[in-house]
Amino acid sequence: MFGENFRLFRVLGFDIRANVTWLFLALLITWSLAAGFFPAVFPDLEPAMYWLMAVAGMLGLFFSLLFHELSHSVVARAYGLPVGGITLFLFGGVSEMQAEPREPRVEFWMAIAGPIASLVLGAAFYGLAFALTGAGMPEPIVGVTSYLGLINIVLAVFNMVPGFPLDGGRVLRAALWHWKDDLRWATRWATRMGQGFGLLLVALGILNFLAGNFIGGMWWFLIGLFVQAAATASYRQLLTQQALKGRTVRRFMSDDPISVPPDTPITDFVENYLYQHPYDLFPVAREQRLLGCASLKDAKAVPREDWDRTRVADVYQECSDTNTVAANVDANDALQRMQHHRSGRLMVVEDDRLVGVLVLKDLLHFLELRSQLEA
Ligand SMILES: [Zn+2]
Repeated sequence: MFGENFRLFRVLGFDIRANVTWLFLALLITWSLAAGFFPAVFPDLEPAMYWLMAVAGMLGLFFSLLFHELSHSVVARAYGLPVGGITLFLFGGVSEMQAEPREPRVEFWMAIAGPIASLVLGAAFYGLAFALTGAGMPEPIVGVTSYLGLINIVLAVFNMVPGFPLDGGRVLRAALWHWKDDLRWATRWATRMGQGFGLLLVALGILNFLAGNFIGGMWWFLIGLFVQAAATASYRQLLTQQALKGRTVRRFMSDDPISVPPDTPITDFVENYLYQHPYDLFPVAREQRLLGCASLKDAKAVPREDWDRTRVADVYQECSDTNTVAANVDANDALQRMQHHRSGRLMVVEDDRLVGVLVLKDLLHFLELRSQLEA
């Protein structure tokens, strides 16, 4: 929901990515440290030194966030949950869990692992700062080290606030889930706490801003907005998952997919398919047997003067995971795949045969009806 991610490296078998917003955050953190935090705590240093300390602090924070997220991912993997990777983005990171935990105990340990890791790392940095002071190291080195001790403790405490989707909110959800054995009810209360906490931060941000504390106010405001939006989105996602649970693609597909016979000349393909329907990709099938997929791009690759003598059979491509799905696949998985690839339609296949087409709009319509019926 926040634009492009780019891959950085791989560690312990997890792909580490950063969202473009993280670049913005890195600049903002460096500036906040160089212009605000370090000059206030360590006066009488050279201005260039503050910037050096700020860059070191920002890199240390990056490492600390990664350490926190890795601990979640390692525990998730130990419980057999598939983890796609870790994406660092504005205000921290997310471990990409491809499935929700199946029981409260698993969710509890997964959630608590992060704050525990941050506490341990914070104590380690403080211990290091203490040792460095004893060894008579220069003030800037000790300063950055103790800043990293502080920021890890702050990370641990902030994440333990009991509002979903913060770690503390997940711990709360696990407890409520264990208590009433109702995941939906538990999620509703944990996300409500998250929304409330987010709004509280927004209000604090505005108050700080009015009081003249612009940098602090801006941080509270942005973090609050983020927490509030993430809580709302998490609850909606759970409702969607529950509404689609146990239903396969077959339930939502329409059975009369428009397919192109392979002998169709490109001229016909453009006139009678691409111009006639609001799609830019069509299944190519002979008597329901799916041969491949033909798209606008494939037609464009043929010079216009050859359109009459070239047939779709000469240009179509193999269909892929991004445009086909098996009929017995879970509707939740299909929805996630469509959102991931930003596609509105998937061809539904069963043993090489084209049996239908799944349209995103139909899925969303069903979800909309469900939520209205239950409101
Ligand atoms: Zn966490």
